[in-house]
Amino acid sequence: MTHQTTCCYCGVGCGIVVKQEPNGRLTVEGDKEHPSNRGMLCSKGMNLHYTVMDGSDRLLYPQMRFGRSMPLQRVGWDTALERTAAIFKTFIQKYGPDSVAFYVSGQCLTEEYYLVNKLIKGFIGSNNIDTNSRLCMSSAVVGYKLSLGEDSVPVCYDDIEEADVFFVQGANPAWCHPILWRRIEAHKTANPHVKIICVDPRRTDTARSSDLHLPIRPGTDIVLNNAIGRLLIENGFVDADFVLDHTDGFAAYREQVMQRTVEEAADLCGVEAEAIQQAAAWIGRANGFLSLWTMGLNQSVVGVNKNLSLINLHLITGKIGTPGNGPFSLTGQPNAMGGREVGGLATSLPAHREVTNATHRAEVEAFWQGPVNIAPKPGLTATEMFEALAKDELKAIWIINTNPMVSMPDANAVEKALKKARFVVVQDVSSRADTVAFADVVLPAAAWLEKEGTMTNAERRISYLPKVLDAPGEALPDAEIIWRFAQKMGFGESFNYTCASEVYQEYTRITAGTNIDVTGVSYELLKKHRTVQWPFPEQSKENGVGTKRLFADHRFYTANGRAQIHAVPDGNASEPTDEDFPLVLTTGRIRDQWHTMTKTGRVAKLGQHIPEPLLQIHPNDARIRGIREGQLVLVQGRRGEVRVKAQLTEDVRPGLCFMPMHWGKILNNNQVRANNLTNALVDPRSKEPDFKFTAVEVKPY
Ligand code: SF4
Repeated sequence: MTHQTTCCYCGVGCGIVVKQEPNGRLTVEGDKEHPSNRGMLCSKGMNLHYTVMDGSDRLLYPQMRFGRSMPLQRVGWDTALERTAAIFKTFIQKYGPDSVAFYVSGQCLTEEYYLVNKLIKGFIGSNNIDTNSRLCMSSAVVGYKLSLGEDSVPVCYDDIEEADVFFVQGANPAWCHPILWRRIEAHKTANPHVKIICVDPRRTDTARSSDLHLPIRPGTDIVLNNAIGRLLIENGFVDADFVLDHTDGFAAYREQVMQRTVEEAADLCGVEAEAIQQAAAWIGRANGFLSLWTMGLNQSVVGVNKNLSLINLHLITGKIGTPGNGPFSLTGQPNAMGGREVGGLATSLPAHREVTNATHRAEVEAFWQGPVNIAPKPGLTATEMFEALAKDELKAIWIINTNPMVSMPDANAVEKALKKARFVVVQDVSSRADTVAFADVVLPAAAWLEKEGTMTNAERRISYLPKVLDAPGEALPDAEIIWRFAQKMGFGESFNYTCASEVYQEYTRITAGTNIDVTGVSYELLKKHRTVQWPFPEQSKENGVGTKRLFADHRFYTANGRAQIHAVPDGNASEPTDEDFPLVLTTGRIRDQWHTMTKTGRVAKLGQHIPEPLLQIHPNDARIRGIREGQLVLVQGRRGEVRVKAQLTEDVRPGLCFMPMHWGKILNNNQVRANNLTNALVDPRSKEPDFKFTAVEVKPY
């Protein structure tokens, strides 16, 4: 038997063909018919089948503890869900609906996201649902909304072959979006005039294969982008007609970027002025200018401003909405975009509606017909949830398919909060999720291939994932767990689904007439066409593919249809370095691991590339501290410490060090969790944490 499905790791969303042999053995290969990857897979995708074949760490049945000091005990689904419902109802009755919260994941399928959102916002009466996408995408979401009017990625992968200048800022797609990167490399090989500019304080594999690497000081992205903006203006690269006809805000922007000379900017960024001039010249002359970014811009206390400063470069040059042109935020997780579509953030409602908008609330209330009005106030965001748990303002949290004990900033504080929480539900596939240790109720979830549903990748492409295998033990699809729980809460009439398809059809109806209309999409259509790109209204069924590129008519989703150019100040507001903590730590992914390793950690092959946690530090910084290659070092920050081996490399600039974010708390008796060090400072508008800038000191251990 062969099945076409989609990789469940990153936002590239590669198509996979799974072959199931009669003896049950599985093999995987890239799907040549899938437009996102054309048959290619990276190391993680090629080994994806091992994550379902090795069931040694699977959670197999519901478990519950009857007191914090008591062990988890096996119980039936009815007992687990009835007790959880009883506790949720008690808290809601006593402390109000905002006393409970759901923390979900960009790994969840669209249907699962939709149901949790419907349950808490429309039936419990709280907006306390947030997703781990808050940790990676929310600055891009706000950036798109403020500049283009809605959280809408304007471009598609086919723009790669149309572009001749790639501006990669704060991203390492060579490791983190490998199949997309291979496509860019192939395009450059076939077209040697194509230029790649990489902006990153680290010399990553992406930087190494670029034509121009700008290793800026951490936190100076806006200084750089404003300097490029100034040069574009001074050198006549502004598209005056586009700016006049389709944008607002240029005059204030011009005034802002003229405040600093290019030489001053170069000095602040720690790069040569000529390099900035070169980047601006290539961008200005480009026929196709595609910018790509991820966490270096998003995971910042000024993440929204960083996003705006980059999108501005497209708006002043008019390089948006045409082939090869546009700002492209690369999604980290496979369904971060699908989650945003159904309203899986504390601020949003289905189809990119907003909880603060009375009309939007009324539309969704009329559709859901729940027993409560949707609350007008945004709910708690990811970091706020754990802060509220610590203060006992939030009583119960339900964590679905994410591992905040490792992935959240200031993880020691998160650990304390989970210990203090009155009631914790963990719904997951794997017992490797560190958060399981803090659960009062553990609910076993079906994994990839064990449930059906949909996901949306980085280019707005919706894929259908079929159920191929039965889940082991008593594990259930996440959507079914939620609808069964909603029934126990007394909302059975509105949650009487029998399959995921019914959930998806309901979701598509709520998008009717919006910018994200997918009323033409159904499981049947996806099975026939494999994938489609939204928007895909009913009439798109005729062409069967949907919408490749947004804003081709240069009419944006703002109230007046014009894009907004923002004059953004270039300051950073990260925690300061000082004599005690003089180095800046940045964290990130490595090539073969995924998030907190609950999946990739099971595949021995993937551990060979970088087998253990490490700290990359510049040889000059190591020398003055007496640190040798491979030596165990103590990395200390204002909130915690770790002990890992040092790797001396000029790939990080002096004053900067780097740690992978994947490993859990303890390894070989050493604290190795990178997030012991990071802080919970967030961007004031996106509430995304400042993972990329932590003040630390390093010494031999
Ligand atoms: Fe999976 Fe991303 Fe690799 Fe594609 S690039 S195979 S989606 S991890």
